Amino acid sequence: MTVRGRCGFVAVALLAVWAAAAPGAPVEDAGARAWSHVAALAALGPRVAGSAAERRAAEYVAAQLRSAGYHVQITGFPFPYFETRQVALEVTSPVRVRLSPRALAYSTGGQVVAPLVVAGRGLVEDFQEVDARGKVALVERGGITFLQKAENAARAGARAVVVYNHEPGPVVGTLTRPAGIPAVTVSREEGLRLRELVGRGPVVVSLVVDTLLETRASWNVVGELPGRSAARVLLGAHVDSVEGSPGANDNASGVAAALEAARALRSRPPAWTVEVAAFGAEEGGLFGSSAYARSPRARGLAAMLNLDMVGAGGRLLVGNTGADRRVVDAVLHSARELDISVEEQRMGSSDHVAFERAGIPAAMLHRPGDPHYHSPEDTPDRVRPELLDPVVRLAAESLRRPALVTAGVPRPAASRPRGRL
Ligand SMILES: [Zn+2]
Repeated sequence: MTVRGRCGFVAVALLAVWAAAAPGAPVEDAGARAWSHVAALAALGPRVAGSAAERRAAEYVAAQLRSAGYHVQITGFPFPYFETRQVALEVTSPVRVRLSPRALAYSTGGQVVAPLVVAGRGLVEDFQEVDARGKVALVERGGITFLQKAENAARAGARAVVVYNHEPGPVVGTLTRPAGIPAVTVSREEGLRLRELVGRGPVVVSLVVDTLLETRASWNVVGELPGRSAARVLLGAHVDSVEGSPGANDNASGVAAALEAARALRSRPPAWTVEVAAFGAEEGGLFGSSAYARSPRARGLAAMLNLDMVGAGGRLLVGNTGADRRVVDAVLHSARELDISVEEQRMGSSDHVAFERAGIPAAMLHRPGDPHYHSPEDTPDRVRPELLDPVVRLAAESLRRPALVTAGVPRPAASRPRGRL
């Protein structure tokens, strides 16, 4: 199908989905309206950073914000695009075992046939316990970032690293930049099997990684609702998804809740200016939010609230990584007033971190425990309108709190390591 035919098809699909009401929820409910955005965005297919689907999602968000009365800009930014072309991992001795590896995003390519060595969680001290020179290191996920594990392995002389999940099942992750050696992940089950084999005697593996790394363009969409005062607050969510996933909960749910909060804020605006943004290219390394947070336009932002994965799972959490509690407190106060249950927890690994790094007070709303995120099963039927509704109301109310704009912009010193855990 050509692009034009495809556009026509997508337009019809969007219309049909938009008109569809969320299963079992009254049409006027903010959660139901948000759900129809989830369905519309997921219908575009995987919204991989830099892809046509991500661009269409940006246009969808822009159209929704315009229809809600916001001044909208779509801004392009360059980012390092990564693609896996081929990856294979096999035990060749003492027995033949074929495994199911996934390349960590930004892994360099290479072909390696070498002994396997087990090195704990890939900490510096773990590599001091073993001789990894010329070998493939097998390490467990957790504690430090994938990038730090791969760099520790490379420094210890390993020719490649295999990270196995610390939870059941496979894991997809990113290095955010190349680490000098090929780096892949396997499921916990496969990792434990490899460890068991090594426990019985020498093991040799063959690893093939073929990847593409180049600069491409992605987009941020920013809608502005001018206020009477120049102070500005930002509500944001990333619009991209990982390869192979329709990204209904991660993160069409966050974008959808932000769109409905934008409507609510338009109908009862605070005195200050409100911005609502959809960021591109979050999954590979927070590229869209980092580009915006570093831009002159972001200077002077009083506060940023990030919505990531808010439509499935159970509990609602609020938190950030730094010392500034301003946004966390605004959310907790609003939650009490609205009688919405929210727990506080320190959280990184999403767009609010880019703003914290730029010295802008920020926090995230997130629902943990979605077993289907970053998978083909992250579909709209798993997103629940009754979980979206309180997020819409809470996000809108939190951005109306005067405490967000009255105390100026502090500059917290500490920032956390890059990349996703
Ligand atoms: Zn996400």
